[in-house]
Amino acid sequence: MINFTVGPVQSPGEVLAIGAEQVPYFRTAEFSSVMLENERLMLKFAGAPEGSRAVFITGSGTASMEAAAMNLLTPEDRALVVNGGSFGARFCKICEIHGIPHDEIKLETGKALTIDDLSNAETRRRGEGKSAYSAFLVNKHETSTGVHYDMRLISDFCKENDLLLIVDNISSFLCDDFDMAALGADVMITGSQKALACPPGVSVIVLSPRALERVTRNDPKCLYFDLKDALANQVRGQTPFTPAVGTLLQIHARLKAIDAAGGVAAEVAKAKRMAVYFRSKIADLPLEIVSERLSNAVTPLHPTNGMSAFDIFLKLKNEHGIWICPNGGDLKDKVFRVGHMGCLTEADYDSLVNALKAVLGYVRNE
Ligand SMILES: *Cc1c(COP(=O)(O)O)cnc(C)c1O
Repeated sequence: MINFTVGPVQSPGEVLAIGAEQVPYFRTAEFSSVMLENERLMLKFAGAPEGSRAVFITGSGTASMEAAAMNLLTPEDRALVVNGGSFGARFCKICEIHGIPHDEIKLETGKALTIDDLSNAETRRRGEGKSAYSAFLVNKHETSTGVHYDMRLISDFCKENDLLLIVDNISSFLCDDFDMAALGADVMITGSQKALACPPGVSVIVLSPRALERVTRNDPKCLYFDLKDALANQVRGQTPFTPAVGTLLQIHARLKAIDAAGGVAAEVAKAKRMAVYFRSKIADLPLEIVSERLSNAVTPLHPTNGMSAFDIFLKLKNEHGIWICPNGGDLKDKVFRVGHMGCLTEADYDSLVNALKAVLGYVRNE
């Protein structure tokens, strides 16, 4: 099978080799030094400001989204949440469950966030000149619809209104540029199974000094996701509970390989090269790109020849040995997604394009 989904994605050799080994005992100086290097490289790759910290949570990306909200926000806050698809809706649900007052900016499928969306939300709540909000939650790339929000716009808005900025960068990390310090972002979240190209099960939360101060101040009603505990342990390269040791070793190998091969810029350039290559190859197929603002991570496509998007997914899987990513809910028959994360080559995209031509019944007019 060739895997073009949005995670888990295909891992490089150094990650696979570690997966074949026994999982070592972890309360050791050796594992601690791995974890300290993991933190150092994550801070570097996120462009985190001086004094930031990173913790590694055993749990998929959603665990870190929830942990960030629980540890940073309280009923005293009011959060503004961008809801452009299922991941935005997840942030709303997390706020609801944890009693965090919030409003959503609901976007239609495929639509980019505009300055008007932001100022309208602000005007609706604004009282005596001061912003009604204290925090802003956004999935930088709404993976469900393939819309990549303009972080400059969001950053300016948050700086102007002094909002804490929490960014789910799970599917955009290493695929698109992101500079936490320049954007003034307080939290960046990512996960092991997207462009980190490791098995699922670990997520990472990078916290700015302002976010760390909030963590210290708050007391979430939770044992496992209390970030004070995770941060205190990570000072010596450890975790409060048994982590996904094997996956953390794989993340270590991957982070070091990225660092040695040109860092984040080289990774972003590779994702971009794959995305541009694929998009150029499908230009005359009956497929329409359905996002106003694309990430290098994913191409969301709507078949314009009347075929069901989900049937295309099934045919590619069952007849061609290829996984693309189906959509759920209302979009099931309308949209499928092709990912550009993980170990993929131009030759892999040639295989995909040939299979798509067969499935779509495409005949070239010469
Ligand atoms: C993949 C993803 C997540 C996390 O999903 P999990 O299944 O919990 O790993 C969250 N947000 C975005 C934008 C994602 O792409």
